[in-house]
Amino acid sequence: MDRLTLGNPSGGILLATGGIDSTVIAYALTKKKIPFAMLFFNYGQGAAEWEWEMVRIHGEKLEKETLRIDWTPPFVPSSSTDIFTGKRKPVLKYKERKDLGKMFGWIGGRNIIFCVYAGMLAEERGWGQVYFGAGLEDMHKDRDIGLAFFIHLNEALSLSFIHPMRVINPLDHLTGREIVELGKKLGVDWDLTTSCDRAFPPCNVCHNCGVREERLEE
Ligand SMILES: [Zn+2]
Repeated sequence: MDRLTLGNPSGGILLATGGIDSTVIAYALTKKKIPFAMLFFNYGQGAAEWEWEMVRIHGEKLEKETLRIDWTPPFVPSSSTDIFTGKRKPVLKYKERKDLGKMFGWIGGRNIIFCVYAGMLAEERGWGQVYFGAGLEDMHKDRDIGLAFFIHLNEALSLSFIHPMRVINPLDHLTGREIVELGKKLGVDWDLTTSCDRAFPPCNVCHNCGVREERLEE
């Protein structure tokens, strides 16, 4: 976790989701006495209120500022055709998605927005970092989590702020299981984390729920 201390000035905004990865970073930063605040985005994900509750609880426990942004992004369904029937699926409006309590699509540019907004809040507080939590396996999952994305994003950020600003992903060299091991050492209570972005209580059928179960089993 040496990457936590990179950068000058020290301190930063942690993009907090209430999940395992960002919570582990919160505890690691606290242990290293690096100042930070936790930023949560509600972008219409089904379990947003529950995720926010997790972020808020850890903020209180660690005595850190918690910030929340409610955002209604444009939305593109991941597939416009139902793979079983071949029929076109209706494009859901934000309100309809919210009522369904589900996310099943793609919000292009999302991670850029998160990082830039976090950078603005970091600069306001005199900090030079944005902390983004994604493990080794995640780096290949979406294009906007990978190494190339962060290299280019950091180049753009360095041109956008008065002081140096960069996004650091301190978990990028650790597997999901290794992150859990680290979290155990730091005393993270897994009951106070959530991984299902669809619903609360967790749906136990989605990809995120499956990965969580694998990571936390002894
Ligand atoms: Zn789930």
